[in-house]
Amino acid sequence: MEKRERELREKRKKLREAALLALIAIVLAFSATPNGRELWTWLFAISEFSGPSQQSPLRVHVIDVGKADAILLECQGEAVLLDAGTYPRGDTVVDYLLRVGVTELKYVIPSHPDSDHIGGMAQVLQEIPTQEVLTYPWPASLCQSTEYQNLLQATREESLSCRQVLPGDVFSVGEARLQILGPLKAHEDSNNSSLVIRLDFQGFSALFCGDIAYEAEKDLVKSGVDLDVDLLKVPHHGSASSCSSRFLEAVSPAYAAVSAGPDNSHLPREETLRRLEETGAQVCRTDVEGDLVFSWDGETLSLWTERQYNRALEYALEKLVQ
Ligand SMILES: [Zn+2]
Repeated sequence: MEKRERELREKRKKLREAALLALIAIVLAFSATPNGRELWTWLFAISEFSGPSQQSPLRVHVIDVGKADAILLECQGEAVLLDAGTYPRGDTVVDYLLRVGVTELKYVIPSHPDSDHIGGMAQVLQEIPTQEVLTYPWPASLCQSTEYQNLLQATREESLSCRQVLPGDVFSVGEARLQILGPLKAHEDSNNSSLVIRLDFQGFSALFCGDIAYEAEKDLVKSGVDLDVDLLKVPHHGSASSCSSRFLEAVSPAYAAVSAGPDNSHLPREETLRRLEETGAQVCRTDVEGDLVFSWDGETLSLWTERQYNRALEYALEKLVQ
């Protein structure tokens, strides 16, 4: 009896080994065909959606939250969140952070108190451990919204340190330098009162402008501060009242990232996109490409998009079921 069981076990083991060898042979044979090679290329593309960007020391994620802003900066193991979308998008932002492995934030920075920038921020502060919240001393008249009060309440409830920042202040995320450039003047509207932040890291630079319009753009250009960067997070979702020619001339970005979504505001505006293209910038839009991830490895800037990833995944699944 025992002998028969031993023989059966041996037989099953040999069968499993033969099946494994046959599977390897099929995969190798398929890989040598044109379809197989294409499949592997796409599979590598999929793994590389986050693969090389995960290896890069610096990543800038423009998260798709519709016509709103949520930008994640990661550098050498530290992370900063600029804005957090609207209130219903709090889940989207938290899920995104966890999906890319961010379980702690060094700074959370609201660009200005408008609901499409800070609506989801209270939820982020409640769910993701955060070291410090950086704000600007906006006048009380701009801070009356429920969303802003919720943000302050979450900061208090979580006993988070909250610091007011001013132009000239410098912070670090990893070895990347974050410098506050604006607002340079008091403006009555909240858009022009947005924090303007410049990021520099090993030859790469980016500019984040919240929802500033011509007036605040003019303040920046007039100040003579260095605005020339590789990546511009386009102000105010690409509205017609932002991205003046003089401002774009000073910024001269290689990439321009627009955060927009389908709604009645018809953003980004055609004339703004035209001005951006005239500067030679490659325009990338969350309403077209989904989440955008820019990664810098010290020499090359790469762009990875959610749509590109989805297309690669669909293609790979098609090939697998064929
Ligand atoms: Zn906005």
